[in-house]
Amino acid sequence: MRKSKSWVTKALIFALTAIIMAGCSGKQESGQAEAPTKSTKLVMATSADYPPYEFHDTSGGKDEIVGLDVDIAKYIAKELGLELEIKDMDFNGLLPALQANRADFVMAGMTPTEERKKSVAFTETYYEAKNTIVAKTGSHLMKMEDLSGKKVVVQLGSTQQSAVQEAAQTIKGIEVTPLNKIGDLIQELKSGRAQAAIIEDTVARGYVESSQDLEMNPISDNGENAYAIALPTDSSHVEKFNQAIKKLKESGELDKLAKKWFGK
Ligand code: GLN
Repeated sequence: MRKSKSWVTKALIFALTAIIMAGCSGKQESGQAEAPTKSTKLVMATSADYPPYEFHDTSGGKDEIVGLDVDIAKYIAKELGLELEIKDMDFNGLLPALQANRADFVMAGMTPTEERKKSVAFTETYYEAKNTIVAKTGSHLMKMEDLSGKKVVVQLGSTQQSAVQEAAQTIKGIEVTPLNKIGDLIQELKSGRAQAAIIEDTVARGYVESSQDLEMNPISDNGENAYAIALPTDSSHVEKFNQAIKKLKESGELDKLAKKWFGK
């Protein structure tokens, strides 16, 4: 009896150890198993206040984020065999969200500046835009110097904010107010609380075409802004994204999409 008891005890200890070890390795496996679930989805962070690149389409009773950037993102996701999910946030919060792993990439008409390259990786560029001054019709604000003595609004965290703040160091009397949404800039202009906004041409055009009281003038000496996609510096996707962008350009698909969103 004594002998068999100790055999049973040994067997029990052995079985318990096996169960505990299985539990541990099971945990590890389920940890690894999360990766494939996560990687079937590609999360894009954007600031959907930027027609025709990204904006809310509420026609037909539903609210959908659409635009050129969204179509390009869908193309890339399809190339990678992944499902696209879009998160909307303020422009200024995009790169922090990327760094906090709350998104796989950022697409928001974003310019790959040297400053941003210190914290994130960028793909090849896929589009280009120019800065314009948007103001009340008849203002004729053509260049940075014309902004002297004016209240100027820009999007918080944008290259337009840097451009006008840099100009304000040499041109006296420019009062710069950064705001979260492009719609807020337009409201400030319309109400007369601000006299100028710096907005990129294709985006400005949409707002100016739908408001008779606004005009836009390209700033000839300032602001070529290329657009690229931002990814975390350690992302394994950068090369695949670049291949997809190359294919998008060479196949003529990008031209087609540009026509779809910009017209002629
Ligand atoms: N291209 C500009 C930038 O990168 C503006 C982009 C935007 O406001 N969506 O800052």
